[in-house]
Amino acid sequence: MYGNTVHGQALPPSEAGFEGENSNRLHFLTALLLRPEHKFRCHDTAARQNLQVELTNAGENNSPQLSEASVQHLEVCEACHSELALWIEAARLCREDEYFDSIILAAQAGDAGIRMKEVSGGLALFKPGDRQCAGLLVVVDPDDWMDILAIHRDVPKAVFDNMS
Ligand SMILES: [Zn+2]
Repeated sequence: MYGNTVHGQALPPSEAGFEGENSNRLHFLTALLLRPEHKFRCHDTAARQNLQVELTNAGENNSPQLSEASVQHLEVCEACHSELALWIEAARLCREDEYFDSIILAAQAGDAGIRMKEVSGGLALFKPGDRQCAGLLVVVDPDDWMDILAIHRDVPKAVFDNMS
C-alpha cells in the first residue's frame, strides 16, 4: 500500500525516495536551507537572497566579507541573523563537494599528481598533501566516478600504498 516503508511504517516524505550518497547529502543541505522559519520572519527577501549569494561566493574564509547592505540587514533581521552560522556551514560543505569533484575530474583527465588504484571497496584516489606525508583519500565507484563512496582526510601515504 505504501511505497516507502520501514517495518511497516510509512516514512515521512522528507525521508522517502532519496537514494545514493551524493543525493542524500544534497537533499540534507536543501532541507536545511528550505526549512520553515518558526521563530522569526525575514521581511526583506531581496536582502536575504543577496546575503546568501555573498556567503556562497566567499572563498575559504570563515569570516566572509559581506557588503555594507548585508551587514546592515543582519543588524536588523533576527531571522537572517539566527541562520547565519547554518548558511556559512552549508556554503563550506558545497565548496568541499566541489573540491572533491575537482579531484575526481583531474584523476579522470590523467593528472599525475593524483594516484589511484583499485581496492576492494572501490577505486581509491589519493591526493598527497603539501608536505607529501598525508593526503586526501577519496574512494569512488569504478563504474561511476562521481559517486563518492568514502572520504578520508589526513591519510598517510603508506596507508594508501598498503590498501588492497
Ligand atoms: Zn533577513
